[in-house]
Amino acid sequence: MNELSELVGGRLRFPGDPGFEAATAPFNRRYVDVRPSAVLSVRDAADVATAVAWARDTGESLTVRGGGHSYAGFSTGTGLVLDLRALDEIRVDTDSGLVTVGGGTLSGTIYDALEKADLAFPLGNSNEVGVGGLTLGGGVAAVSRAFGLTVDALVETELVLADGTLVRCNATENADLFWACRGGGGGNFGVNTSFTFQAREPVASSTCLLLWDWPHAREVLAIMQEIMAGAPDEFAARIGASRSGDGPGTISVIGQHLGPASELRELLAPAIATATPRHCDIGDKTYWEAKDFLHHETSGDPFAVRTRTTPKPLAEAGVETIVAALDRWPGSANPDGAGVALFTWGGAINRIPVPDTAFPHRDVLFLISMDTSWSMTDPSQTVWTNLEWLDGLHSEMGAHANDAAYVNFTDPALTGWRSAYYGPNYLRLSDIKKRHDPDGVFDFCQAVGS
Ligand SMILES: Cc1cc2nc3c(=O)[nH]c(=O)nc-3n(C[C@H](O)[C@H](O)[C@H](O)COP(=O)(O)OP(=O)(O)OC[C@H]3O[C@@H](n4cnc5c(N)ncnc54)[C@H](O)[C@@H]3O)c2cc1C
Repeated sequence: MNELSELVGGRLRFPGDPGFEAATAPFNRRYVDVRPSAVLSVRDAADVATAVAWARDTGESLTVRGGGHSYAGFSTGTGLVLDLRALDEIRVDTDSGLVTVGGGTLSGTIYDALEKADLAFPLGNSNEVGVGGLTLGGGVAAVSRAFGLTVDALVETELVLADGTLVRCNATENADLFWACRGGGGGNFGVNTSFTFQAREPVASSTCLLLWDWPHAREVLAIMQEIMAGAPDEFAARIGASRSGDGPGTISVIGQHLGPASELRELLAPAIATATPRHCDIGDKTYWEAKDFLHHETSGDPFAVRTRTTPKPLAEAGVETIVAALDRWPGSANPDGAGVALFTWGGAINRIPVPDTAFPHRDVLFLISMDTSWSMTDPSQTVWTNLEWLDGLHSEMGAHANDAAYVNFTDPALTGWRSAYYGPNYLRLSDIKKRHDPDGVFDFCQAVGS
């Protein structure tokens, strides 16, 4: 592997070298024991091209790392890791609203540049998530019901292919690869060294955070789903049912409305009338204050997430399944605990036809995200009972929701991931993979074509 360092401008590090951990550590500590043999912190796109060609010629396994936030640890491996953090240049053209960012840029860096230029496009709710993983799998933000997905704002991307060539992809150049990069999942078709988005004007907003005690779980989960089913595209919310420690659960609603707090109060009135929340914060915000309000960082201690989707509110039995599952959660030492979150999708996301982009979930009202977490110090029995609990819940929810799953909430335990992540678009994705990466240079356990 040493010879690679002669060929590139970036720094090659081995286990034990200063900076090795920072360049390789997976966000989800469930995967800390996976040890790469080396990491190349690339200097530029030319380094990426050299490293890909070198890996292809030597047969060394290659893993691409953007922000390192893959739920399933898909940006770490046992061979060479390509650390893209230095690809973080941002160019903003205020006349056209086109924003070009390096393929390793973190969302927080992009948010800062957008705020300075007073431009917006949908990014997620974490500053630390990389633009590569977020975009390639779709990218859902609180403003997505009005503005679409991150990938719906993508107009061009540059990609190093398995043969080491750098290509530009947009609606007319390498259009098949451009289509695949719009939801086909990170790490599948090459290394994206840049992304160009069409930004728009931000909109004055309001936000809400409401919390209810557990005895109100059933009625609040039901009414909040009805509210969201009839809500305007400007309003999106995450409806949560969660537990941690030994205490009872909590029901939460956190959301953003692209309009005044007076409208948001009206939208939420039926839920507040159904059961008095123990905490109710509804207020006007600038677009940027709303973004900060919604930001969510977790410890990164080990966790697992499974997803399903539903095109309509869950019936009473579906709500009952969630409440009963949380009542029997086995517990762990991780303060993040366990939960079920209903993320409101739909709106602009659903107005794009399924074949137009690789992202297939254009008929969803709620992404149902089920999660649990544990601590590094928990005994293996706790890990096992938590995973068993999550599998049981995921399986029971199959009676109430669809098998479709969000590739960015990557679920390494998912059987049938090809159709769950990609629906009818999988066949076209695997055909594009065969043409551009016939030898599987970009390979991992849920790689397209594997
Ligand atoms: C705290 C937190 C908050 C989140 N919030 C949101 C949210 O609001 N909305 C949402 O939609 N998702 C959200 N996610 C999920 C997130 O979109 C995915 O975890 C995403 O894959 C992370 O991207 P990354 O670059 O940080 O991760 P990595 O682990 O670095 O990459 C993920 C995958 O993409 C590949 N990849 C990364 N960069 C590139 C590139 N430039 N070229 C080719 N392949 C690449 C990697 O090889 C890997 O397979 C969140 C996750 C966390 C942990």
